[in-house]
Amino acid sequence: MKYCTNCGVKSKKKFCDACDAKRNTSHNFCGWCGEAIPEGAHRCKNCKEPIKESAGAKVGRVLFAVIEFLLFAFCLLNAVLWAHDLPYTIQYAGSSVVRAVIILVLFLLSALVVFPLVRGWVRSATPGKKGRRALINALRVILAVALLWGGVYMGFVTNDMETDVNQWGHSIKAEALETFHERYALKNEDSFVLNDWRYKEVLSDTGDVYYIVTLDWSAENSLGGMTRQETVITLCYDEETGELYALDD
Ligand SMILES: [Zn+2]
Ligand SMILES: [Zn+2]
Repeated sequence: MKYCTNCGVKSKKKFCDACDAKRNTSHNFCGWCGEAIPEGAHRCKNCKEPIKESAGAKVGRVLFAVIEFLLFAFCLLNAVLWAHDLPYTIQYAGSSVVRAVIILVLFLLSALVVFPLVRGWVRSATPGKKGRRALINALRVILAVALLWGGVYMGFVTNDMETDVNQWGHSIKAEALETFHERYALKNEDSFVLNDWRYKEVLSDTGDVYYIVTLDWSAENSLGGMTRQETVITLCYDEETGELYALDD
């Protein structure tokens, strides 16, 4: 509210600077536009805002505020966690700096659009326009979810598919292939074709880094035809030696 509901002076505070009255205890003036309110009126003639908030409107407002706050906290948490892991993500998970920063910006923006203070600004900017206010608030939530989803998608879903990005990616691929050929006796080694591969980095509870490597390969089978299948090899990163080694099946 922008005006004191008791004396009509411009005041955003809970207790008016001019008359010291607590907001909403008397209703002589509209708190949204400052118009004088005739006795017994239910809404302001000028801006159409209700003089007293109905119980239903209050429940709706509180419920929305709770949902908005939870969403805000979740978006912010994502941003903080992502920022915390940023150096690590860039160094080991094969994410480029630009990409990692874009993801961080998406998380921050998602938190910003549902920042609880923004609701108050929307309220002040839409006096008497309940429909428009509801629409803006709904769009804010949708936008936050979309930005959040965009960040999660870029950071976690497509990252699995990112291959051949750096030297580390090549090391993972080489170690996985070596393990594959040691482990599986193909009928004809020369017929081996790697169609595609991808890896996913997993951090264990004990802090060990694992790479789940999926090899999509084709090779000649015992009947002379080609077989295509996927094989998963799990690699572990040894921090002491700085080398990768394959875990037993
Ligand atoms: Zn006042
Ligand atoms: Zn008004």
